[in-house]
Amino acid sequence: MTRSLTILGATGSIGRSTADVVLAHRDELSVEAVVGGRNALALAEVARRLGAKFAALADERGGAALREALSGSGIGSGAGQAAVLEAAEREADIVLAAISGTAGLAPTHAAVKPGRRIALANKESLVCAGDAFMADARRLNAEIMPVDSEHNALDQALAAGRSGDVEKAIITATGGPFRTTPKEQIAKAGAKAASAHPVWSMGSKINIDSATLMNKGLELIEAHHLFGLEPERLDVLVHPEAIVHGLIQWSDGAITAGLALPDMKVPIANALRGDKRLRMELSRLDLAAIGRLSFERPDEDRFPCLSLAKAALRAGGAMPTILNAANEIAVEAYMAGAIGFYDISEIVERVCSTFSGRQILTPSTVAEALAIDNEARETARRLIPAPVEAAQAR
Ligand code: NAD
Ligand code: MG
Repeated sequence: MTRSLTILGATGSIGRSTADVVLAHRDELSVEAVVGGRNALALAEVARRLGAKFAALADERGGAALREALSGSGIGSGAGQAAVLEAAEREADIVLAAISGTAGLAPTHAAVKPGRRIALANKESLVCAGDAFMADARRLNAEIMPVDSEHNALDQALAAGRSGDVEKAIITATGGPFRTTPKEQIAKAGAKAASAHPVWSMGSKINIDSATLMNKGLELIEAHHLFGLEPERLDVLVHPEAIVHGLIQWSDGAITAGLALPDMKVPIANALRGDKRLRMELSRLDLAAIGRLSFERPDEDRFPCLSLAKAALRAGGAMPTILNAANEIAVEAYMAGAIGFYDISEIVERVCSTFSGRQILTPSTVAEALAIDNEARETARRLIPAPVEAAQAR
């Protein structure tokens, strides 16, 4: 029997890898709907290739182009946020959530339905509104299956024992493009250098987050919500080869680790599996050819975003929501050349400390989380220099 799948963020890096997995398993997976952001032609192309029933584009202005590109295909289409939510809510066994950033929260949340599996790549959903999101998933008996490679590895490792016996969960980081770069040089790096990820090929926002190590910080918060582990039971290890993705340390000192070649199709296939795993014709991990795996502690002096995220996780409440919102604005500004590398952490820190004096309760609904997210974005925007000032400062 085939299982039906909807892909949110079908034109992105994760979306394209998901399409490859689906096309290799047409007999097991059928596609209900695909969602994209702005590129109507790319969305129409993936909708046709996957034989989707419906395609939704977030950008309303692309609606006519999408309709035209799909004409004669029998594939329905819509544009704007309502169409995106309609796609997310349509009947499907699995929804793979891979929109990037907090823009993914509302559609991913709309996709949480009784008995359904959410294959979750959009970590920002959990960082922004983790408590509310997970509570709704539990209430509706929806399964949240991590696609993020580290969390997918942890999920598999956890199957080896009882959750009560977990002492620690460790996620690995490659260290990004600046792992061995001196601080003074990192300070001058532009977005192009920061985007040159040594191992993974990913979307632009997560690339910058990998260079600052904010990605690993967001992943600690993600792990906290997914696995219900307290901050002191979560750790990060830098591992440049990116072969070991996640490790579970048990109460007897044993460790169960998840290994795979760094290819997102592996965790995606795992998150889409049925009773049995999907067979993937990918290269196999050859440990003898790799020869050596190395590990080191992250350097929080050169990568302060990691400490900021850890602090937000420990503080709890609305702090992760605020951290995530400030980071998105700062990363956007960095990509636009308006601020420097260490201004990202500076802005995040300033926004977090602006809010830390106030008693903001943990957002108990997604709407509450989005309201705090909005306020934090506004605060962050006020810290970004206007284009002229930025140019003069450079
Ligand atoms: P990407 O930028 O390549 O793709 C993002 C997708 O979302 C695109 O299809 C885009 O059109 C769509 N989109 C953007 N804004 C939208 C909006 N407002 N409404 C609807 N759709 C919108 O990003 P990516 O690298 O594929 O990452 C997607 C998510 O997966 C992120 O949350 C990221 O953190 C997570 N993730 C990615 C990787 C990776 O290897 N790329 C690994 C782990 C987790
Ligand atoms: Mg990851």
